[in-house]
Amino acid sequence: MAQMRTPIESGVPDNRPFLHPALLKNYGRWRYHDRPRPGVLHHVAHSGDEVWSVRAGTQRQMDVYTIRKLCDIADKYAEGHVRFTIRSNIEFMVSDPAKVEPLIEALTKAGFPVGGTGNSVSMIAHTQGWLHCDIPGTDASGAVKALMDELYEEFIREDMPNRVHLSTSCCEINCGGQADIAIIVQHTKPPKINHDLVANVCERPAVVARCPVAAIRPALVNGKPSLEVDEKKCICCGACYPPCPPMQINDPEHSKLAIWVGGKNSNARGKPTFMKMVASGLPNNPPRWPEVSAIVKKILQTYKEDARSWERVSDWVERIGWPRFFEKCDLPFTKYLIDDWRGSRANLNASTHIRF
Ligand code: SF4
Ligand code: SF4
Repeated sequence: MAQMRTPIESGVPDNRPFLHPALLKNYGRWRYHDRPRPGVLHHVAHSGDEVWSVRAGTQRQMDVYTIRKLCDIADKYAEGHVRFTIRSNIEFMVSDPAKVEPLIEALTKAGFPVGGTGNSVSMIAHTQGWLHCDIPGTDASGAVKALMDELYEEFIREDMPNRVHLSTSCCEINCGGQADIAIIVQHTKPPKINHDLVANVCERPAVVARCPVAAIRPALVNGKPSLEVDEKKCICCGACYPPCPPMQINDPEHSKLAIWVGGKNSNARGKPTFMKMVASGLPNNPPRWPEVSAIVKKILQTYKEDARSWERVSDWVERIGWPRFFEKCDLPFTKYLIDDWRGSRANLNASTHIRF
């Protein structure tokens, strides 16, 4: 008899073998859930089964010793199953309420705060940074660790008007995404070109096509094929740097950080929104990025005091208006901020045709 061909697995692996048995048994058949305390979710299934998920924050970029420590806690205090949320919190599932408190105690003692649920400041989503990516202008995970150390109390409590999602991106063009408050690299000078390397390293037509404002042209420099940048057009986005590393744009002095506010993916009460830039030119100042943390904390504190219950940051700003937002947060306003790119159809290279 002909054997069935085994399917080729080329997507996300099947998660079912790794699910907690109670989650597997009741998959898609949940009656309701609630939160008995910050950091703990309680799910009740139609079958009557109950599961408590204890959520903890980590330093995000973890060494093998930390992961082993978390696994030991899962084996000893939980039921051997963990999962990571999209914001890199770790969750431990237990089917016995008596295990919840000892698990929280063990996590807290080992330095992992329990929280991040409901109206808290959840873990900051960040991009890969210096550890994994080849183009970052800052260490997103470092800025996140420094900021979360200062927001510890807001993670373990649910004191915000609504949930707060923060994110950090280490370049201007790739991963990242919408967040209530986002920290994003901001290049302020055009790329510096190493003409000796361009011909050997870069596929020049691909680099020319990559520029959103058509500022790159092929050129012959010192008798070698290279590229040149029209610096008046360049918007310092850094899109040419990944396909052409000799177009170096990262700079210890001129690569800064900017803060954006008011984005969200949720459409629970209103439409998803795009965030807007509210502070720019902040120093990219490792290892603790104090200037960035100070502004984010000020915005969070103002939001906490001024927003009504259940207003997300974007709803709050929409209600009070951008001028009041800048006043209340003690941020200077310039004409370069909160551009919503309504003119991008005309001023960006949105078609497949290159314009010179
Ligand atoms: S945001 Fe940019 S630099 Fe950072 S990991 Fe993503 S692609 Fe790399
Ligand atoms: S891709 Fe971006 S950084 Fe590079 S030349 Fe064009 S505008 Fe400037």
